[in-house]
Formats: sequence, structure tokens, C-alpha cells
Amino acid sequence: MNLYDLSLSQAAQLLAQKQISSLELTKAVLARQEETEPSLNCYITVTPDLALDQARRADERRAQGKATPLTGIPLSLKDVINTQGIQTTAASRMLQNFTPPYDATVTRRLLAAGAVLTGKTNADEFAMGSTTETSYFGPTRNPWDLKAFPGGSSGGSAASLAAGSCLGSIGTDTGGSIRQPASHCGIVGLKPTYGLISRYGIIAYASSLDQAGPMGRSVADVALLLQILAGFDRKDSTSIPCEIPDYNAALTRQVKGLRLGVPREFFVSGLDEEVQAAVERGLALLAGQGVELVPISLPHTQYFISTYYIIATAEASSNLARYEGVKYGYSAPRQGANLEESYLNTRGQGFGQEVIRRIMLGTYVLSSGYYDAYYAKASQARTLVIEDFHQAFRQVDAIAAPVAPHPALDLGQAGADPLTIYLRDIYTIPCNLTGLPGMSIPAGFSSQGRPIGLQLLAPRLRENTLLSLGAEFQRNSDFHQQRPVSQE
Ligand code: GLN
Repeated sequence: MNLYDLSLSQAAQLLAQKQISSLELTKAVLARQEETEPSLNCYITVTPDLALDQARRADERRAQGKATPLTGIPLSLKDVINTQGIQTTAASRMLQNFTPPYDATVTRRLLAAGAVLTGKTNADEFAMGSTTETSYFGPTRNPWDLKAFPGGSSGGSAASLAAGSCLGSIGTDTGGSIRQPASHCGIVGLKPTYGLISRYGIIAYASSLDQAGPMGRSVADVALLLQILAGFDRKDSTSIPCEIPDYNAALTRQVKGLRLGVPREFFVSGLDEEVQAAVERGLALLAGQGVELVPISLPHTQYFISTYYIIATAEASSNLARYEGVKYGYSAPRQGANLEESYLNTRGQGFGQEVIRRIMLGTYVLSSGYYDAYYAKASQARTLVIEDFHQAFRQVDAIAAPVAPHPALDLGQAGADPLTIYLRDIYTIPCNLTGLPGMSIPAGFSSQGRPIGLQLLAPRLRENTLLSLGAEFQRNSDFHQQRPVSQE
């Protein structure tokens, strides 16, 4: 087995037993990165020199007996997470030359634990999209099938994991951006409870929905990363001051007797047959381990998409107002006759088409005269969605769902019709509207060999339940152990 094929927890164990060094591991991962990047384009910035330096320091730290489980592990970070002194672009021309003067809390925690940074991963521009095709730096390809998109917006993170150019990654999820690429690339992605991981230093898309989270090859890997990332941060006003449980302990907890809800509204026409079959097999597997499947209803499912796209674009239009060519990033070379013209030039050139579309939509739904009809209505609908889940979790411990209605589509299929792509978010959006945790785990492959994920949702701060169910699933399946055949 190649070192880059190890799961994060396997590597952590080998490092702890001193069977391998971080330098060896990091060299293997960097060689894999060099080999795969020309065909996959997972990274916007690679940091091999830094990684080697960090690996050497990690080995020293271990020799001194001060290692954590993450010390010496090569990780990638989505390029919306600030890294001091390392370019952070949000996959946009607007921030092409932006070098943050400080680390995000996520970055700081990982570095303090001794992690090794392989680079900053590609994404949809400002995390807007679900295919990684709206990046200013070109699309990422899916390691399982180079013709397919990897999902998005954290597509570079998922693809780098599937390919072996890192052993873990941190993505962000506003409406599915961790879980969808995880599903399409055959890895595990966890979107935690809103407020569990600090958003400080993460470039904002829609602040009431954005949440960072871990991506890994196994549920155990994700638990390990979550343990380091979760926790109160006074620099984020929405951070939850709560006790952080032992996530590792959740991995071996009994799932027998847990009640798993299956929403009637999720299994309807429009759901691809192969996805439905994989999800049903996954449910049967869990039922075989003593999990009780309970039919439930989420009556406001039909409002998920419209509610989300009004709230997300409204918040985006406000968050992205700061990019005007003066304080940050790109400045149009021909500045214009007056201030307004210079803003227009900078924003017209600095933002891509999808970002501009969303700023326009968001500005429209917030404008006087339309605010009540759209934004206020959407906020009310959001409350109804929250209430749906509230009711459901009176009956069940967790809820099962598909992640995306189809396996990954071919690259290029998305561009022509944004609406088709928005509709693909139906199963991932509710977690963000409600702030609940959700996880995608590998659950099968399509006849074309493209991975399919199973999604599990839990009540607020019950990441533990997701980890217990996911770990049980992975003890009884081997989808997560399969690796794509190199097509480079
Ligand atoms: N696909 C959704 C969107 O485009 C979600 C993206 C995300 O989670 N960042 O808004």
C-alpha cells in the first residue's frame, strides 16, 4: 500500500508507533500531488516547501513526546480559509493576490496541533456552486472519472482526498458544499452544527448558513479532525459555548435501538434510480445492525430551495459589498471617471458570472418594495422548515437522506442552466437552514463507477450520533476503502 492511500487515522497510528515518520509520509503525499495535479487541478496553491518544513518539525515534536494525533499529518484547506502569509483567493479573480495577515481559527487550531499543510484547495468562486466549475482557476476533475465534476463547492478538498494528495481536508458548507463533493468523490464529509466550529477568518458567503467542517476517508478520520476543530471562539459571535464531547468514543457506541427517520418527501420522482437503490441498501445495512427505520414527514420540503436561494443570495449581496477595489484584492486598471464607475469596473471584472448573478438576485430580494415579498417571506418559511425538523426529532434520533439526486454529472453540463444545478441542493440545504449537523458517507457506486453518498442528519450538537451510525456503517461496508484507479 502506498503511504498516500492510508486513512488519516491509520497514518496517525503508524506515526504514533514510530513505524513511519511525518517526513516520509509528507514526501509520499507531495509526490502524489505532483503526479495528479496536472490532470485534477485540486489545488489553487500548493505549499510543498512549507509542508516539508512542518513535517520535519512534527517529527521533532514527536521525538520530544509532545505530539497530538494530528501531528505530522498532511492536510489541505479550502481556499476560503485564511492562512497567514499564504495567498487565499476564494477561487476568485477578486482575491487572486490577497495574502491574509492572520490565520482563521480553524487554521490556527490545526497548526497548533502540528498538522502539515499541503496547500489551498480549489472551490467554486466564493463557495457559490456545487460543481467546482465556477472557480476563476479552472475546474477540478473527479479522480474517479476525469469526465465528471467532483461536486462542490469544496470540490478541490474532496478530490485531493480521493486522489491521495492529502490525508484530510477542511471544507465549508453553506448549502451542501462539504457533503456533495464528499458524496461525488467517495469520501466522508461532515457539516457540523452551526456554531460548533469558529467562522473567524473564513471568507463569508452567507453568514447565517456557512459552517466549516472536516472531510476524510473514514468516519474515524472525521471524528479526529472534529475533535481539534470544535470549540468556543470568542472571535466568532455565533460560536457556541458548549462542552466538546469525546468524538472518538462515539465511534464504538452501540447503534442498536436507534431510531432513523426516512422522510417520505425525499424518495420521489426526480431521484436517480441508482442513488435511490444505494441509499436503500445503506438503510437495510443499518437496519441489519438493529437500527429501527421509521417513516417520517417533512411537510415543507417543497420550500427548501426557494427559501435557501433567497436567504443565501441576500446575505451574499451584503457580504460581498466589501470588495470594491480599495480595501481588498483586485482593482480595475482603468479606474473610471468617478467612484461609482471605478466600483463598477472593479466588481464587473473581479467577479465571475455566477457571483454577479447572486449579488443581483440578493440585492433584488432585499430592495425596498420587494423585501417583504421575498426576504421576509423566506425568513418565515425558514422557521417552518426548522419546525418540521423539530417535530421529526421528537420521533427519531437521526434522519437518513440522499446527498444529491444524481451521481456526479459530466463537466460542462452545469453551465448552461443554473436552475438545474440549484435544484440539486434539495437534500443538503435543510441542514443549513436549520443549523443541524449532517454527514455524507460513501454508500455505493453508479454503473458508470461514480461514487454515491448516504446522508445522515442529527439534532443540534448530536454529531456523536452521526459518528456512531457512520462508524457502524463502515464496519460493515468497504466503499470507503476503495480508491480510484489512476487515470492520469
Ligand atoms: N450549492 C449551494 C450554493 O451554490 C451551496 C454552496 C455551499 O454550500 N457553499 O449556494
